[in-house]
Amino acid sequence: MGIFFIFPGLDDIPLEICYTLRMQKKLIAGNWKMNGDLASALALTRGIVEGVNADPGLLQRCDVLICPPFVHLARVRANLGQPPLVMLGAQDCSERENGAVTGDISAAMLADCGCGAVILGHSERRQFHQESDALIAAKAGKAHAAGLIAVICVGESESQRAAGTHFEVVAAQLKGALPASMTPENTVIAYEPVWAIGTGKTATPEDVREMHAFIRKSAGSARILYGGSVKPENAAELFKTENVDGALIGGASLKAEQYLSIAKAA
Ligand code: PEP
Repeated sequence: MGIFFIFPGLDDIPLEICYTLRMQKKLIAGNWKMNGDLASALALTRGIVEGVNADPGLLQRCDVLICPPFVHLARVRANLGQPPLVMLGAQDCSERENGAVTGDISAAMLADCGCGAVILGHSERRQFHQESDALIAAKAGKAHAAGLIAVICVGESESQRAAGTHFEVVAAQLKGALPASMTPENTVIAYEPVWAIGTGKTATPEDVREMHAFIRKSAGSARILYGGSVKPENAAELFKTENVDGALIGGASLKAEQYLSIAKAA
């Protein structure tokens, strides 16, 4: 179902062709994290939808995904237009189906309120909620069962890179966090070196090229995003790098103008 959020108007085209088309496009994903009140979430949504509407060619070149906090999902969804041009996603989901799990949100609930994707295993969840690769794989399995695209984050810390263990770290994360249900269509891998998130430091194009080539061996034809201080100024160069199929954007996704200018660079 999520596929038609990405390809409004392409309902007549066979699913495999839709997939093929989608795989050729970059994915520009905005992670709003725990920011903003309802008014600012709706203003940001408006800015992004207006920007996408004003540039009809944009969605030919990239898919646009926004991931607001849970509490704003339904209201943001209602403001995405009909059919929605921008895909809606969440920032996490439960590894359980339903029931007595106070405070958690299931993947099926996300699908029910209009989400087509969910970010899983972000380094902030790994750090603040001690999420393991096995837990992330379980969440991704539930996301797939609910028809959601799982955007699974991996990446090494600064000390791991300094120690030269970044490939081993990422290999172990991929091995543990990618579920058996993974297909190139239902999974996106986001490489986010932890030391580049929210710091203003970006990995060099050579570091990104090397790591994305490494991840490609596990990803098959699934899209691989780069995340970590992506901005309008560095987006074009990143997007030119081999195996970079888009970006996961934190800070710059909170300003419609910056987010759109990253999308335009795709
Ligand atoms: C992120 O949190 O996924 C991220 C990449 O953040 P930023 O763009 O702010 O570095």
